Amino acid sequence: VQESAQDLQVARRRLPVFMVKNRLIDEIKKNDTMILIGETGSGKTTQIPQLIHEQRLEGAGAIAVTQPRRVAAITIALRVAAEMNTEIGSIVGYSVRFEDVTSPRTKVKYLTDGMLLREAIVDPLLKKYSIIVLDEAHERTISTDVLFGIVKLAQKERNEKKQIPLKVIIMSATMDVDSFRKYFHNCPVIYLEGRTFPVTIYHTKTKQDDYQYAAVCTIFQLHATTPANHDFLVFLTGQEEIETVMYNIKQIAKEATGPPMRVCPLYAGLPPAKQLQVWREAPPGTRKVILSTNIAEASVTIPNIKCVIDTGVVKERTWCGVSGAERLAVRVCSQAAGWQRAGRAGRTQPGAAYRLFPAKDFAARPHHHTPEIVRCPLASSLLLLLAAGIDPSTFPLIDPPPLDSVKASLLLLKEFGAIESEANPKLTVLGKKMSMFPIDPKYSKVLLSAPEYNCLEEALSLVAVLSSENVFHTPMHKREEAFKVKQKFLSPLGDHITLLNVFKAFCKAPLKKQWCKENFLNHKNLTYACDVRQQLLTICQKLNLPVSSCGQAHDQLLKCLLCGLFTNCAWLRGGGGAGGAGGGGAAGAVARRYVTATGRAAALHPGSALQALRPPPALLYSELLLTGRAYMLTASAIQPHWLHQVAPDYARRCRTNR
Ligand code: ADP
Ligand code: MG
Repeated sequence: VQESAQDLQVARRRLPVFMVKNRLIDEIKKNDTMILIGETGSGKTTQIPQLIHEQRLEGAGAIAVTQPRRVAAITIALRVAAEMNTEIGSIVGYSVRFEDVTSPRTKVKYLTDGMLLREAIVDPLLKKYSIIVLDEAHERTISTDVLFGIVKLAQKERNEKKQIPLKVIIMSATMDVDSFRKYFHNCPVIYLEGRTFPVTIYHTKTKQDDYQYAAVCTIFQLHATTPANHDFLVFLTGQEEIETVMYNIKQIAKEATGPPMRVCPLYAGLPPAKQLQVWREAPPGTRKVILSTNIAEASVTIPNIKCVIDTGVVKERTWCGVSGAERLAVRVCSQAAGWQRAGRAGRTQPGAAYRLFPAKDFAARPHHHTPEIVRCPLASSLLLLLAAGIDPSTFPLIDPPPLDSVKASLLLLKEFGAIESEANPKLTVLGKKMSMFPIDPKYSKVLLSAPEYNCLEEALSLVAVLSSENVFHTPMHKREEAFKVKQKFLSPLGDHITLLNVFKAFCKAPLKKQWCKENFLNHKNLTYACDVRQQLLTICQKLNLPVSSCGQAHDQLLKCLLCGLFTNCAWLRGGGGAGGAGGGGAAGAVARRYVTATGRAAALHPGSALQALRPPPALLYSELLLTGRAYMLTASAIQPHWLHQVAPDYARRCRTNR
């Protein structure tokens, strides 16, 4: 991966941004606000902040560059530090949730949009920064949408108060420019000349039932018929799926004809060292196959891709009716995303994109994806706005969220006790405390409820683990062995206590790396959870919360968890009890036997600790995943009457509870 400083400079000079550098610098000097549109890979994210800094346009302030994704913020900051030949955390740094790699000297700071939003609570004028670059604006995450409003207000107020002016640069690959221009007072739009090659698009003739299977088949068809120096990029929806497909490819590759293959995964939870594999050239005669989530769609560019294989789906968080419940769902991508993905094949030479769905399906898809603010839960953003002292009802947004979504979120905040009433959304003392935690309000509610249940010790560990990526590491070829080893952590109460057992054992283990290996656990993610726990503990201590332990009284902990997750309950169909389809046992017996608060049929995830047990009458789950079916991820057994105890208002309005 080591590239010499000279190589890096040569590569920089070849980028389209570099070629129009003088014009760009002039425009940046001239305008307070501008929109910059340029093909993915043209050098916007890595180069623009460097150009600004080379000219010292930031003056005494710093440059903030936002990214919707944590991985992108980190990898890009590392790349830019290497290009500038400096250590990460000095002049160039990054700040993502629970990880701040910056110093007072940092001038170019890459951060997630969520982190900049958090900074705005403490300082709504964002005075640290003289230039703010809102990158990947086309993604339209809630945090970016809210930041548009925050920077607009900050710019205005800093002007009025004659403070150091704030320059705002909006960057994007593709964008509905008109509405953005209007929103930013008809600011100038600068288009970077694209540099792409034609990409031939192929569709399947018929609809594919199983896109993972279709992807593997297509990979091997192409593998047998195209030269080895043609690298493939395959779009999938998440880590688990990528690991499954990777395993299948490796199995088939042993017997398949064609050149050797190097398969590289790319997803958010991947350790940085493994992420860098993606950029390493494969040895001559070896084909590189990259299996990626939609992070490779626009946030990061991988050179030399010749074939794109597009499953046409993406995993998205969505909001689900007035219940206030949210879920993860695998959905079809927009046409814009389809073109963007296909375009990845034409960066350095003409390429091809293989869409695993028929052309008429593509034509029926929406042109653009719906901004998150229109389809996602708002409680978290509302809480932040209120904490920053901003009135949500007059806050300027490009696309206002649906009214019933705002209502549902306010109702949820009311039921948490975070605001005084829906009509008067003023933060209560509890609400202010909730906003101090950099986590979802449902989890800050759990931590703040913990003293009442004497379980802050355990709640901190659990919330920390739930804030990390998967702690179990199950290699496909050692599934059975891993399953056996996992037994010693299992709790009959379900996945939350199982996770707690894992975390506690990890903390006690003397040789952690070795121990994780023996127990099929992910060392990096558990270490991260420890770090998160420490940071959450510091906030709890600032708030003077008593850190006591419930010991083995795990019911207490589950009740406490329910205080934040009361929207995530499910009930056994037919009221539970004996009878039913065989009273549990095999995995199939429990499938689809639950119904959620919104009336959706849902099944325990196959990996749940509860699978082997008699199905409990009621469950609490951390997340609902919709693929073809609805799966409850991380579920625990609860007593049905607990809901009335811990969240009486919600229980009253939730009629499904029988
Ligand atoms: P844009 O923001 O316009 O999409 P970027 O600034 O992200 O473009 O990327 C510019 C170029 O830098 C790309 O062609 C990409 O291949 C290269 N690049 C970016 N990050 C890395 C990295 N970590 N390792 C190697 N090359 C990289
Ligand atoms: Mg970019």
